[in-house]
Formats: sequence, C-alpha cells, structure tokens
Amino acid sequence: MINVHRTLDLPMLEHLKQVLLDHQIPCFTKNENPVGGAMGEVPPIVCNAELWIHHDQQLERAKGLIEQVVFPVQGSDWTCANCEEELTAAFTQCWNCGTVRESETRSAAV
Ligand SMILES: [Zn+2]
Repeated sequence: MINVHRTLDLPMLEHLKQVLLDHQIPCFTKNENPVGGAMGEVPPIVCNAELWIHHDQQLERAKGLIEQVVFPVQGSDWTCANCEEELTAAFTQCWNCGTVRESETRSAAV
C-alpha cells in the first residue's frame, strides 16, 4: 500500500477515489474524519485526509489520474505506439509499458 494524495479537500478526495476505482485501481481514504470534536480547534495537519492505493505498481498510473483531476492538462488523448494503451493528455509516458509519448502534434500556438 502506498499514499498517493493528501488534501484538506474531502469532496475532492472522494472524487479522486472514485476516479481511481473507475480505473480498476483499488484504493481507500484515511483520516477523512477530522480528529477532535466540535469544541476545540484542530490543527490542519490532523484533518489532512489521505488517499492510498493497495498496489504500489499502480502508483504511476494513479498519480497520473490524480494530476489530471487536480491539475487539468490541455491537450489530447493519445495511444501508446508500443502497446496501444489509450492514455490521457496528463500522461507523458505510458503507464503500462513506459514508452515516452511522441510529440507528434505540436501547435505553433505557444
Ligand atoms: Zn505502452
């Protein structure tokens, strides 16, 4: 098991969890319930919820999916030239076989 994300944004964490589950990445959240009561103030670090995945070998894929949600990337989906895995723009490398994305479509818009 390995921690892939940590945030104070619980709705976002739940969303990320669902995204990973949708991609067949078993995962679970930790610390989603803030420690302490309604009485005192809880230091933010205590409330930090975490998202964990069960299989370490899915780390790269999970992180790619998370980045895609947290930091939307402009671009188009692509297909790995080696294993034909379909990948989203967030990936610069195939999570399946490690092939680096070819920069075939470069726009002069930059
Ligand atoms: Zn591949």
